[in-house]
Amino acid sequence: MIRLESIPAMSEWSNRIRAGGERLGFVPTMGALHEGHLSLVRRSLAECRRTVASIFVNTLQFVPGEDFERYPRDLERDASLLSKEGTDALFTTNVEEVYPPGFSTRVVPGPLGDLYEGKSRPGHFVGVLTVVLKLFEIVRPDRAYFGRKDAQQLALVVRMVRDFHLPVEIVPCATVREEDGLAASSRNAYLKAGEREAARCLHRALARARAAWTEGEREAEALRGILRETIETTRGASLDYAAVVDPGTFEEASGRLPRALALVAARVGGTRLLDNQRLDADEP
Ligand code: AMP
Repeated sequence: MIRLESIPAMSEWSNRIRAGGERLGFVPTMGALHEGHLSLVRRSLAECRRTVASIFVNTLQFVPGEDFERYPRDLERDASLLSKEGTDALFTTNVEEVYPPGFSTRVVPGPLGDLYEGKSRPGHFVGVLTVVLKLFEIVRPDRAYFGRKDAQQLALVVRMVRDFHLPVEIVPCATVREEDGLAASSRNAYLKAGEREAARCLHRALARARAAWTEGEREAEALRGILRETIETTRGASLDYAAVVDPGTFEEASGRLPRALALVAARVGGTRLLDNQRLDADEP
């Protein structure tokens, strides 16, 4: 696996790949890699002649007071995991190179950027879209792989690609879960002994809503109630939001639903966790 440690090195490598006519797959990450990330890498390796992963803990998407400083970082472990998978290249850079003095332009999402995650973390998606656009410009991949774990982020990236006519295909990838149902996340490492059980309430809430749907429940308010109640009655968990939305538009749904996506976020101790689940269908 080749290590590309600057923007020019990354761009040059990618230019060469493109000149050779090889399809380039891209997996952007913030590191602290787990099975979720690796599933994206495997998908890219299966579909593209070349795969590059990036690791960059993006300052711009952290809201003041969040965990930027303590976000888990272990570059050598990550590099070894990626190399074992057969990843062709690892791109790393740093805050000074990505946001040099004078940097000022940002990508502002539409109204969806201010809901759910965006409401709890004002400015978060401006940071996400800005860095994703930059990475697309630097890497110029044919395909980029994103997890459904971050469903709202995925929807906003798809929207940006359309809105800006970006020549990249976004590939959504299924959420990878740990054995007890908890969605794999770099932030799971923050969970203290005893908090794990409380953390499972997100998955439990989604599974209950899904089961209710399967049994015929279609009322948005009832489904939201199941999500809310499951999390609110879990000791050690504090609900941030529980929403039932249209999977296409992310608009908060009401009345009887033909299809639905459930979104939940909660705090367990000092850790903020999020998860989501289609209620009407298995995700492809
Ligand atoms: P992050 O490093 O958290 O920014 O995530 C990098 C990419 O991995 C994003 O596209 C995430 O949606 C994806 N990802 C994170 N956790 C999971 C998971 N449990 N299953 C699938 N994809 C994931």
